[in-house]
Amino acid sequence: MSHGIKILEPSFDDTKASRACKVIRSSINTNKLNFTITTAKMRRSTGPVGCILLVIAHPDDEAMFFSPLLMSKENIHVLCMSTGNDQGLGRERCDELRASCFSYGISADKVTIVDDPLLQDGMEIDWPEPAIAVHVYNKVCSMQSAGQPPQSLVTFDEIGCSGHPNHIATFRGVCVALPQLIQIAPALTAFKLNSTNIVRKYSGVFDIMVSCLLAPDDYMDISLNVSQVYNAMTLHKTQFVWYRRIFVLISRFSYVNTYTELPRYVSPAIDDSLRPVSLQL
Ligand SMILES: [Zn+2]
Repeated sequence: MSHGIKILEPSFDDTKASRACKVIRSSINTNKLNFTITTAKMRRSTGPVGCILLVIAHPDDEAMFFSPLLMSKENIHVLCMSTGNDQGLGRERCDELRASCFSYGISADKVTIVDDPLLQDGMEIDWPEPAIAVHVYNKVCSMQSAGQPPQSLVTFDEIGCSGHPNHIATFRGVCVALPQLIQIAPALTAFKLNSTNIVRKYSGVFDIMVSCLLAPDDYMDISLNVSQVYNAMTLHKTQFVWYRRIFVLISRFSYVNTYTELPRYVSPAIDDSLRPVSLQL
């Protein structure tokens, strides 16, 4: 059976949104030194909530970039678009991803790892967006069938935190899938993890304050428990080389995640010349 993905017109209701009040919600978990601060102004949702589907490109992305999210939220499923087989270590890296996710309280049955010939790990390999969209669509369908429909989807943005082409392709693939996902899961809201300039990227914990000052309306998860990030990365034995140990300590992504909600139609960030008008699933 096939399903068609079609490009939809924008459905965002600015009139309703403009009437919405500013909502500030904060929660503090002192045991884990986690803080969740959600500022929603003229928004219809309050950041990633409920059952969350995190879409990443490689094993270790979850710890290197999304740790504040994983530390702050409860019910998270992970969809990894590759096995990370760039150096022939795909099998080991799959095990490492499951172990890392488990350290965040995410059981192995909530971790899905794609091994698609079109989506092999590599800086030089272009990932076709329709292939990514199919896997995201199928994952949402399977979660719905299992009685766990995702309420929020989180992935990279158009810069992909590090500029890695596979990260950027993952964002673009999610954007391609989003119109069809909204049709089958109307309550689903998608978010992209905001990238920053290189100075802020390596400002570590200090970027919490900078994020609050420069983008007060962004949704935000904060975690001061950097030891959890470090421990999770030690489980990625094949990847935890010396410069990644430093990265974990000085990267903003170990302390703060800020998100922007994706529009409920194909993102303008997607180049029309690269975007299929329709896609057979
Ligand atoms: Zn990656």
